[in-house]
Amino acid sequence: MSNIGFVGLGIMGGPMCRNLLKSGHKLVVYDVVPALVERVAGYGASPGDSARGVAERSEIVITMLPDGPEVEQAVLGPAGVLEGARPGSTIVDMSSISPLVAQKVGAACQAKGVRFLDAPVSGGEPKAVDGTLAIMVGGDEAVFNEMAPVLRTMGSSVTLTGPVGAGNVTKLANQIIVACNIAAMGEALVLATRAGLDPNVVFNAIKGGLAGSTVLNAKAPMVIGRNFKPGFRIRLHQKDLRNALLAAESMKVGLPLTSTVQQMLMALMNQGKGDLDHSAIVNFIEQMAGIEVKSPGDLP
Ligand code: NAD
Repeated sequence: MSNIGFVGLGIMGGPMCRNLLKSGHKLVVYDVVPALVERVAGYGASPGDSARGVAERSEIVITMLPDGPEVEQAVLGPAGVLEGARPGSTIVDMSSISPLVAQKVGAACQAKGVRFLDAPVSGGEPKAVDGTLAIMVGGDEAVFNEMAPVLRTMGSSVTLTGPVGAGNVTKLANQIIVACNIAAMGEALVLATRAGLDPNVVFNAIKGGLAGSTVLNAKAPMVIGRNFKPGFRIRLHQKDLRNALLAAESMKVGLPLTSTVQQMLMALMNQGKGDLDHSAIVNFIEQMAGIEVKSPGDLP
């Protein structure tokens, strides 16, 4: 069992801490929001006073923060993790960030003799609670092998996909497929509704064929039931696609579909829909058609 520091106790970090504690690890935790530190202390963790303070008391520090700027601040900034981390200790960043930032943070860690993995997750809050996240890891194989048992307390699938940055490239690949799938589903259901068909009947007719997918099964019933409660928020998905486009540009790769869906997400955020579930991408296509995807029985 290890002494683990955990920084970032939000929607995902809170339940991940709980699972680490359940597995018998000792935890010291920090968040800029004191109420979140108190909440996780209530699960049995020791409260920390800063990211540096957490690192001084830990062999492993896990970070679960919104995006790259917060990771740079919490790890590389003043009173950050790297100021307190001892040579030979390990930092595992589980936030979804740009692979370029992961590489920058990894290089700063290496210069101080601190080991670094980027290990973003897929699965959202329910899987964070159940400890069944899919965890995609970038970094050195020996460090991965050492950290894998700790990661398995939070995830049911833990995969090394390449060197530092590869975890986030894999996560971006995941986010591209999900976003483009939701947009394609939106176009299909808007067309079917405009043609006078019941979108629920169309969904049931196609879900077993080649167009069927986990995204379709999860999101079509939400859209048809007009339930856009998150789930995974529009603003987080916009952030992920922005990171995908920045990484793609640095590699001179064009992502035309991702770029289009990114514009839809930005438009929805400007309409005050940033905190809706990402299934609300469909709203953008509905607005262009002047129609809502609903079963005829639900229509006024
Ligand atoms: P969140 O906003 O709920 O939590 C982030 C926490 O970080 C907040 O509590 C915030 O106060 C804290 N924080 C910010 N800056 C800090 C700093 N400098 N020092 C200490 N604490 C700081 O976000 P979340 O939903 O838990 O997501 C975390 C990451 O996981 C994101 O990168 C997100 O894209 C990714 N993710 C989220 C989901 C999901 O469904 N929510 C699913 C998969 C991946």
